[in-house]
Amino acid sequence: MSKGNIGVTSDNIFPVIKKFLYSDHEIFLRELISNAVDATSKLKTLSSVGEVKGDLGDTRVRVTIDKEKKTLTVSDHGIGMTAEEVDKYINQIAFSGAEEFLNQYKDKAEAIIGHFGLGFYSAFMVSKKVEIFSQSYKEDAKAVHWSCEGSPEYTMEDTIKSERGTDIVLHIDDEFSQYLEDATIEGLLKKYCKFLPVEIAFGKRKEWKDGKQVELDEENIINDTTPAWTRKPADLTEEDYDHFYHELYPMQLDEPLFHIHLNVDYPFNLTGILYFPKIKSNLDVHRNKIQLYCNQVYVTDEIENIVPEYLTLLHGVIDSPDIPLNVSRSYLQSDNNVKKISGYITKKVADKLAELYKADKDDFAKKWDDIKMFIQFGMLTDEKFYEKATSFALYKNLNGDYATLDEYMDKVRESQVDKDGNMVLLYTNDPDAHYTYIERAKAKGYDVLLMDGELDVHCMSQAEQKREHLRFVRIDSDTIENLIRKEDTAQDTYTDEQKEGLRKAFEALLPSAEDKLRYNVTTEAAAADALPVFLTQNEFMRRMKEMSAHQQGMSFYGSMPDSYNLVINTAHPLIQELVGKETSEQVNEEVENDGKKETVVKTVYSLANEDERLKQLIDIALLASGQLKGEALAKFVNRSVELL
Ligand code: ADP
Repeated sequence: MSKGNIGVTSDNIFPVIKKFLYSDHEIFLRELISNAVDATSKLKTLSSVGEVKGDLGDTRVRVTIDKEKKTLTVSDHGIGMTAEEVDKYINQIAFSGAEEFLNQYKDKAEAIIGHFGLGFYSAFMVSKKVEIFSQSYKEDAKAVHWSCEGSPEYTMEDTIKSERGTDIVLHIDDEFSQYLEDATIEGLLKKYCKFLPVEIAFGKRKEWKDGKQVELDEENIINDTTPAWTRKPADLTEEDYDHFYHELYPMQLDEPLFHIHLNVDYPFNLTGILYFPKIKSNLDVHRNKIQLYCNQVYVTDEIENIVPEYLTLLHGVIDSPDIPLNVSRSYLQSDNNVKKISGYITKKVADKLAELYKADKDDFAKKWDDIKMFIQFGMLTDEKFYEKATSFALYKNLNGDYATLDEYMDKVRESQVDKDGNMVLLYTNDPDAHYTYIERAKAKGYDVLLMDGELDVHCMSQAEQKREHLRFVRIDSDTIENLIRKEDTAQDTYTDEQKEGLRKAFEALLPSAEDKLRYNVTTEAAAADALPVFLTQNEFMRRMKEMSAHQQGMSFYGSMPDSYNLVINTAHPLIQELVGKETSEQVNEEVENDGKKETVVKTVYSLANEDERLKQLIDIALLASGQLKGEALAKFVNRSVELL
């Protein structure tokens, strides 16, 4: 038997391990099993090149718990280690970079365990003593027993071990007794080891029989050793992809819409499958996350810094040995490989979407409502994605027809270009509320888009910025004649004073102004068949308000009151009749002219005895844009009956 000190130059590595990795201590299991799997894979490689002769026999990795002895054991039948190798790889841990780690740990509290090859030592996070029993595959190698009680001292001696491979025995600390529970270990194995390339066995398989769980005489295999992403797309059917989706997310009932199989080997290695889920509501969005693997070992599902944010709405797996693991998040973002990976995934996802749209426009359109949020989010946050996405981002009109912006613009170019050469696209976010406005637009032969998505306003603004001579206007933001001005608008023949008289008469009867609501009365010779009085809301102000709800730093707009224009349509016969009823009088008015006070005679018009009718007209305008409610609505109904 030999004794020695573990070859790290700093005082003691164990306090470091325990202190800094405390929060993540469960990863010890992942680290030990990864080592076991590596050792097994190496053996298989050696066998395939003829360096190991004969049948490899049982190659399963096993995890066992002994509750009496309070041990957890990870056993493999891999290449094993000779005493020299234990000395080199375990005792001299400085070899795999621990020294460096120890020098740095003071500044970087975040764990760097896997990265610097401290994997095996993570066992000490939960153990008071760790033993290794190993038999190398090498001929004539003696089995070795190594033991260490969480201090820099270890013992090493020859032993007898009947089978090739390594057993790592953890004497679990009392404080971590949960790692002696089957359920805990099974949970961790399912989390970290579900797709490892070598079979991992834990206990016996159980089955429900007559309402009871019975143990079968068969080992319980935790993992799928050849998950879909490791196989060739040509060898997989749609069912295989769907099946794998449910393997990844057992709680997810919906089928994914479609998938993208990723496979790169230059300039970095990356494989994976991304799925487009059906996103029904905002709540769904982050329930299932993309999982990151490193050579089939689960690493994390917090991948915010590895892929652009909008891609985190997708589901699936990414497997790359080239993503540095267990390093700080800010470091990840600046890592060159990570940047390349992110760019590659963006391109791949965009290309796939473009391909799908080209291949079957109708089918793509059917899926559009489910993937719209994802694509719009991508366009708004990623310039590269925006450029590609213009070829498949769709707009939907009120007939339920879908088209890309270019296709749509071609469709309406004939009718919806105004006299200044601007293309004006009309939209509604609420077809019921805007019914009368929509009818007016349709009567003119215009098309109306349905833009009721959460990101639609932002996307419209973006499209306007990117394209010259393009404007989106909500159907209720002005008279249709003003929204798409064809020639100079029709004028009425009334004097400014007459119109002023009309405005005053209406103003006096407006519902009392609230803090958050303001009406501004204007006159306009809209059209004889339009409503006599109607409301419009300025597109710019409304949009700013809507966008400020999502964006910080725009609260100025958010705090502005909602202001509406109450438009008196002087082209309407009813209004013309009212103008005819105005009475005028001459009044003297003092005005300042070049600093001198002068008296001028003015004609002032007013409209008396028409209150009931004016109120009725205002209410009709409010009603037509969904703003007449409660008591005001009841009054309107009563007044209508009386008038009849
Ligand atoms: P890493 O795995 O990152 O190299 P570890 O501390 O986990 O760091 O392991 C150090 C080395 O010990 C491994 O590279 C391997 O050579 C050896 N080793 C660990 N576990 C096993 C095992 N189960 N079978 C064979 N060799 C092992």
